[in-house]
Amino acid sequence: MAARLLSGTRVAEAIRAEFLPAVAAFTAAAGRAPALSIVLVGDNPASQVYVRNKERAGAAAGLTVTIHRLPASTSESDLLALVRRLNADPACDGILVQAPLPHGLGKAAEQRVFDAIDPAKDVDGFHPHNVGLLVQGRATLAPCTPSGVIELLEREEIPMAGRRAVVLGRSEIVGKPMALLLLQRDATVTICHSRTQDLAARAAEADILVAAIGRPALVRRSFVKPGAVVIDVGINALTARQQVIDIFGEGSERLKSFDAKGSTLVGDVHPEVEHVAGCLTPVPGGVGPLTIAMLLKNTLAAASHRAPA
Ligand code: NAD
Repeated sequence: MAARLLSGTRVAEAIRAEFLPAVAAFTAAAGRAPALSIVLVGDNPASQVYVRNKERAGAAAGLTVTIHRLPASTSESDLLALVRRLNADPACDGILVQAPLPHGLGKAAEQRVFDAIDPAKDVDGFHPHNVGLLVQGRATLAPCTPSGVIELLEREEIPMAGRRAVVLGRSEIVGKPMALLLLQRDATVTICHSRTQDLAARAAEADILVAAIGRPALVRRSFVKPGAVVIDVGINALTARQQVIDIFGEGSERLKSFDAKGSTLVGDVHPEVEHVAGCLTPVPGGVGPLTIAMLLKNTLAAASHRAPA
C-alpha cells in the first residue's frame, strides 16, 4: 500500500492562517509590522531562491522583510559590521544570515557571524545562547527546519513519546536540533552520520525516520521498517538526465518535468520508499514550506518578546 503523503504545504498554510491575526494584533499595538532582515552574501542560486521564497512568504503574512544583498567579495568585518548595525536597529526584530556563506569567507566565518547576531533577534536559532536553551528544553527561538518537522508530526497526530526515532545527519542546522526536539517529546533517539556503520540497519529500527543528509535518494526501501513515518528533509537539485532516470525511471512524470526545465528536486529518500513507509513527506512540498512558516513564527515571537503587544 502506498504511504500517506504528509503535505507540508497544507500544514504551513494552516500555521500561517493561525498567526495572521497575531501579526495584525502586533502591528496595531506596536504601530509597525514585525520586521525581518535577511542578509544574502554572494550569488549562490539556491540561496537566492530560498531568500526570495522567505521574502514573499513574509510579505504575504504582513511582515516587513528587508533583504541586504552583499557581493561575494564582502569581507568578514564588513559582514559583522552589518550584523551589529541590525542588532542595534530598534526597528529590526529578526536577523537571518543565509547560509552557506561564500567559500572565500571560510566555514569559521559562518560561525563567527552567527555568534555576532543578538540572540533575541536570532530567528534561525543558531546562536550558542539559543542552542544552549534548546539543549535544556527551554528554547524560545529553535531552528526552523526541525521545529517545522515537529509541528508537522504534532498536527498529523503522529505520536513521538516512547517511539524509536532515527535522525540521519548531525548538522547544527538540522540533525542535532532535530534529535533534541524529538528527545524532548520523549522519543528514543539515535543520530546517524557519515561514519555510522550499517546505516540501513540502524535506520530500519525507526518508527520515525528523519533523513537530513543531502544525498539524493540514498534512503532505499531496505532502510525503512514497514509502516514507519519517513520525513525527508533533503533538497537536492538533479541536473543529470541519467540520474533522474535512475531514480524516477524512464517515462516518469519527473523525467518529463526534467526535460522541460533542465533540473528537478529530489529528497534524500528514494521514491520506492513510498511502498514501504506508512507516512512520507514529499519533496518538494514537504519540509521546505514548513521551514518558512516557522521562520515567520520565530520572527513574530522575537518581535513580541522585544516589544510586547
Ligand atoms: P550538512 O551537509 O550540513 O550535513 C549533512 C549530514 O549528513 C552530516 O552530518 C553528515 O555526517 C551526514 N551524512 C552525509 N553523508 C552521509 C551518508 N552517506 N550517510 C550517513 N550520513 C551522511 O547538511 P544539512 O544542512 O543538515 O542539510 C541536509 C539536507 O537537508 C540537504 O539536502 C539540505 O539541502 C536539506 N535542507 C532542507 C531544508 C528544508 O527546508 N527542507 C532546510 C535545511 C536543509
